[in-house]
Amino acid sequence: MTDARRTLVRRNPWPEGVSRPVVPPLQMAVVYASDSPDQLDAQYAGKVPGYTYAREGHPNADHLATMIDGLEGAEGGLILGSGMAAVSVVLMGLLKAGDHVIGGDQLYGRSLRLLTQEMSRYGIETTLADCTSAAAIEAATRPETKMILVEVMSNPTLRLADMEGITKLANERGILLVVDNTFTTPRAYRPLEHGADIVLHSVTKLLAGHADVTLGYVAARDPAVRKTIYDFAVTTGMTPSPFDCWLAERGLYSFNLRFDRAQENARALADHLAGLKGIKRVVYPTRPDHPDHNRAGPLLGERGGNMVSFELEGGRAAANALTLAMPEVAFAPTLGDVGTTLSHPNSSSHRAVPAAEREAVGITEGFFRISVGVEEIEILIEDFTRGVAAAAEAAKG
Ligand SMILES: *Cc1c(COP(=O)(O)O)cnc(C)c1O
Repeated sequence: MTDARRTLVRRNPWPEGVSRPVVPPLQMAVVYASDSPDQLDAQYAGKVPGYTYAREGHPNADHLATMIDGLEGAEGGLILGSGMAAVSVVLMGLLKAGDHVIGGDQLYGRSLRLLTQEMSRYGIETTLADCTSAAAIEAATRPETKMILVEVMSNPTLRLADMEGITKLANERGILLVVDNTFTTPRAYRPLEHGADIVLHSVTKLLAGHADVTLGYVAARDPAVRKTIYDFAVTTGMTPSPFDCWLAERGLYSFNLRFDRAQENARALADHLAGLKGIKRVVYPTRPDHPDHNRAGPLLGERGGNMVSFELEGGRAAANALTLAMPEVAFAPTLGDVGTTLSHPNSSSHRAVPAAEREAVGITEGFFRISVGVEEIEILIEDFTRGVAAAAEAAKG
């Protein structure tokens, strides 16, 4: 019999056995006990493996990081509490007052805000430039430029960056090249293999894939940069929850399958939409009418991904009619879920962008972005055919 006075609060030992679980355990512990001060010293010195305090690292985060490292061809990647934590740790952990950074002018909205409104308070200046042209990036460089932050595919206009030209420029000038690979994923592009210094992800999106965790990932080629990133993340408390890491790992098992299926759907849906009355234009990177389609082959191996954007004829009334006619497709501003989601940048991600700027890149009231899921394609075609017909009707009236 166990003595309940001793075990109620101090906890019974975990049952041991000669077999091990097939699925990685979920380890929620915040603290780890060591045998002695000598052992703890050895742990901190890296002579023996072990954990101490979850903010500094825990097994579920490390196990997940190793999986994403494998996909990205990276080593020593770090999991963080969100994709924005990954962007923040790179900018705030590696730059100092007086440094200059170049960001893509169509980066994720919060990344733009971090660069233009937060980093400036710490004396770090930003120039935004058009990533589809390495010449535009080059024109923005200064002697004090320390970093270039780009996304391979822009949101929601799905333009492809000139990764070859930008990588060459960054490598030649010794500027750190940071690639947010959230939209393309390592299934379509592996930045470190092509010469980038740092790759980061919103794991929340396609990698975890089920719209139920918020997580980020970052990996650097240089071990010294990795160490700086790690220390900044631990000091500022960007720690992920073990449960989120465990869930993300579960999602990741099917990542390749989900990506391929969603991409196949996206390609078919884009072609279908292009043939419907009431559609002004469709944006999908491998379509011949896409402005960067010549880049899709060499850059992505024709892997256009799961995102499709399109523009309806008509304004807000047509846009409202579309979402109301297809209630089963979640009208929700995220991407990468197993199920298809639809977003309207003018009323969500881009609402704060001045109208003239939005229109200059083609983001009008009729503009939608689809994150295509893994449903059967017939269902998607039915839903969107109905939605676009309702929009066309509304545009007439
Ligand atoms: C969503 C997203 C982020 C931010 O990730 P969170 O996990 O929401 O913090 C960063 N970059 C891109 C390209 C994204 O789509």
